[in-house]
Amino acid sequence: MRARTSRIIRTLAGLTAAGGMLAALASCASGPASHAKPQDDRPVVLTTFTVLQDIAKNVAGDRLRVESITKPGAEIHGYEPTPGDIRRAEDADLILDNGMHLEAWFEKFVSGLDVPHVVVSDGVTPIDISEDAYAGTPNPHAWMSPDNAMIYVDNMVRAFSKLDPDGADDFEANGKKYRAELAEVKNELQTGLAELPEAQRALVSCEGAFSYLARDTGLAEKYIWAVNAEQQATPQQIASAIDFVKDRKVPAVFCESTVSDAPMQRVVEASGARLGGTLYVDSLSEAGGPVPSYLELLRHDSRTIVDGLTGAGK
Ligand SMILES: [Zn+2]
Repeated sequence: MRARTSRIIRTLAGLTAAGGMLAALASCASGPASHAKPQDDRPVVLTTFTVLQDIAKNVAGDRLRVESITKPGAEIHGYEPTPGDIRRAEDADLILDNGMHLEAWFEKFVSGLDVPHVVVSDGVTPIDISEDAYAGTPNPHAWMSPDNAMIYVDNMVRAFSKLDPDGADDFEANGKKYRAELAEVKNELQTGLAELPEAQRALVSCEGAFSYLARDTGLAEKYIWAVNAEQQATPQQIASAIDFVKDRKVPAVFCESTVSDAPMQRVVEASGARLGGTLYVDSLSEAGGPVPSYLELLRHDSRTIVDGLTGAGK
């Protein structure tokens, strides 16, 4: 039933896209003769990073042009916007940020801009950071829980419907379809990670970016540093991670794609655990890479964690 419904939605989306193309062709035919690229008059939605861009594209469909300030692979927390970024933001019709202090640079970035912005994590119940200088502040990586991503989707549906009221029904339908995909991935994550024996249910990472995923899937969480903005792993932080790995006999540890894994290599050397692979959280990969979409990011991380902790493929 679900497959049939999504087929119908896909067909409808295809018809809408075809209709859009016909309209574009018609307007080209009546416009001045030109070999230039057809002008894209769609409203521009500018997101702060690639994960939001992908979620927003799924909600926007073909009606909006969705872009990202930071590129695939970029570090998001301490990013320094360029003059080009400011020009793009001035020309945008809507800016989406994660909020929860993920983008340390964002407040200053938007302070002089006359462009509406929406915080997509509005309504998420935060998990507070328990260690480091950030103790007591919300962990910003809320999208690592598919349940939270559904809140992001709802916020985007509302924001896009305000920006482009004629598209409200489309955004609602796109959001509904994407929420169903999120529910499917949530199910995959929980059944995948549920296979892990109790003693191996521990996730050791470089940044403390997996609190929401760990909560959803019943993993104990340990990280070297809390937030990438201060990623100088201190000797105490590394020693604490080594103790955790040795105490719990954790077979594999992980580091993320946007940071150096050198501090985790020291944990590996001192503890005898394996480096289980690269996890993605703060950025998607390039289109041809391992995590071109947010749903693939969640699937990739789940697979990498299970394979690492069970020793599969070694
Ligand atoms: Zn992060």
